[in-house]
Amino acid sequence: MTSEDCLFCRIVAGEIPAEVVHSTERTVAFRDLNPQAPTHVLVVPREHQPNAAALAAADPEAAAELIRTAAAVAVAEGHDDDYRLVFNTGERAGQTVFHAHLHVLGGRDFTWPPG
Ligand code: 5GP
Ligand code: ZN
Repeated sequence: MTSEDCLFCRIVAGEIPAEVVHSTERTVAFRDLNPQAPTHVLVVPREHQPNAAALAAADPEAAAELIRTAAAVAVAEGHDDDYRLVFNTGERAGQTVFHAHLHVLGGRDFTWPPG
């Protein structure tokens, strides 16, 4: 997988449009195309890594910044205390885009266990 054929690399590069809500030195946050809650934002590292574990291994500071950015997005969207952060890893867990991304979901009640 190279950045030329990775959807989220192309969004980070500005080649594919997205509604960007926040960006930092190492991360970009944009609204999910198919939202599963009133707030559904994806926070992605600018560098290509296939999943969260690979990102944390390769660049721990980028992994930490992903979580800090997610919290900033949740607060900015009005969900100071109640929101859900999700990393799907692998096809059986629902991962469909193999560029690490943290889902920030807020604005409704969530059940446990997840589906
Ligand atoms: P995953 O299923 O890999 O955890 O999450 C991928 C997410 O990317 C899905 O929630 C899906 O709706 C979102 N998505 C897929 N294609 C696009 C796109 O072109 N633009 C945006 N903004 N989101 C996308
Ligand atoms: Zn990528």
